[in-house]
Order: sequence, then structure tokens, then C-alpha cells
Amino acid sequence: MSSDPIAQLADFLAAGPVVALTGAGISTESGIPDFRSPGGLYERMDPMEYLSTAALERTPEKFWRGFAGLYGQAGDYAPNRGHRALARLEAAGRLRGVVTQNIDGLHQRAGSRQVVELHGHLRTVRCMRCPVRTPLAEAVAQVAEADRPWPRCPACEAMQRPDVVLFGDMLEAFEEARRLVAGAGRLLVVGSSLSVSPANGLVLEARETVIVNRDPTDFDRLARLCLRAGAGETLEALCGRLGLEG
Ligand code: NAD
Repeated sequence: MSSDPIAQLADFLAAGPVVALTGAGISTESGIPDFRSPGGLYERMDPMEYLSTAALERTPEKFWRGFAGLYGQAGDYAPNRGHRALARLEAAGRLRGVVTQNIDGLHQRAGSRQVVELHGHLRTVRCMRCPVRTPLAEAVAQVAEADRPWPRCPACEAMQRPDVVLFGDMLEAFEEARRLVAGAGRLLVVGSSLSVSPANGLVLEARETVIVNRDPTDFDRLARLCLRAGAGETLEALCGRLGLEG
């Protein structure tokens, strides 16, 4: 086997179907902080306090102020070379799809088609009483500009909630992700500390795993190959190696 890690990564992709599992680390290059790197969100806040169903029910005003502050500008971020490389790999038939823990929607905006969003997304919010959904930006504007304690459903006036999976919610997309990973049997982890359950359990569904992450993870010993490197530069180099330049 080659000692060049990019060549090893290319061999991994060439050897059979692969699914990518991405985390906040693939989006740091787009300017979105992750949770656990130095300077990440965990240094500034306790996500359990701000991003849980308990917080939404107990103190909806505080929840919505915090959520709007954290994610109100989400539409300003753009996909980076890492997201684009995964989209190119999928379009070239080298990747079956992406399972992402991210809520930023940047894989789809980069062109990925088969994307399972394990933790939901920031495109819309939903009414807590009826089935109506509206864009997140409108909900944030209600909190910020109309000075409402929380956004209200345009149809029935009940409180709206984000379409992200909060601590305390069911993980409805997990079974779809599990099937995708088990079907491919091979997993490429990019930019995740693999410390969030049950997403990290997807590693156990794969026969072989490769991890591209700046810091070590608890699952490194199960991986066939670990690259301690930046997501964007690594995936771009991989595409270059496979003749899939952007
Ligand atoms: P995490 O913060 O626990 O871990 C991120 C990992 O990425 C770290 O181990 C870090 O070393 C690595 N990393 C950071 N920048 C990198 C880069 N450029 N290249 C390679 N590696 C890099 O993130 P997680 O494992 O995804 O779990 C955190 C949870 O937080 C997830 O459930 C996710 O839903 C949520 N989250 C999402 C976003 C987003 O949507 N962009 C941002 C923050 C947190």
C-alpha cells in the first residue's frame, strides 16, 4: 500500500461504495464555529441550556433570543471547497451520499444530492400545533424586528419551533442514515469529534472506516486510516488525485 495518505484515501474510494459522515469541522472553513475546537461554541455557552426542548418549553423567550442570535445569519455562510469536493465525488459516482450532523445546509448548496440531515436544518421552522412551516429568516425577523418574544405561526398563531433536532428530541433520520451506511459498508468521516451519540454509532454500522479530522477521536482505533488534516485541503487533494478538479 502507498505511504501517501491521499493515495490511500483514493484507494479507499476506488475499492467500493462509500458514504460520508460529516460534522461541524467541515464547515469551520466557511466561518461557522464548531462545538469542541478551541474557540468553539462550548467555550461560550452550554448547548443543553440553549438548544434543548426543555429550554424551549421552560423559557421560550430566552430560547428564541439565543437561537436567533446564534443562527439568524446562517444564510450568509457559503459552502467551501470541502463541501464542493464531496458534491463532485457524488456526481462522479465515487460517493453514495452524505450523512451530516450539521444543520447549516451547506452540502445541498454545494450540489450534494443524497444528503441525510441527522440533526435537521436551518431552512424552516414549524408550528408546534399545526403542520405549517415557514422560512427561518421570517421567524428570526419576528423576534428581532417585530420584537415578539417568539415567532408565531401565520395560520394559527401558536408558537413556532426550529426544524433542528434539539436535545430531548427523537432522531427521526437515524434509521435512514443507518441503512445508507450499512448498505455501502464503508464510511468516510470528515470533521467530526465523533462524540455525539447516536451519530457516532454509524461507525459501528460500517465494515471499514476512514477518518479525516484535525483532532483524535475515540473511534480512531477502529479506523483503517486516520488523517489528522484539514477537511477542505484533504478533500480537494483527493479530487485532484481522482481527476475531479473543480
Ligand atoms: P465537534 O465540534 O464535536 O467536532 C468538530 C471536529 O472537527 C473537532 O474534532 C475538530 O478537530 C475538527 N475540525 C475542526 N475544523 C476542522 C477542519 N477544518 N478540518 C478537519 N477537522 C476539523 O462537531 P461534531 O462532531 O459535528 O458534533 C457537534 C454537534 O454540533 C453536531 O451534532 C452538530 O449538529 C452541531 N453543530 C453543527 C454546526 C453546523 O451546522 N455547521 C456547527 C456547530 C455544531
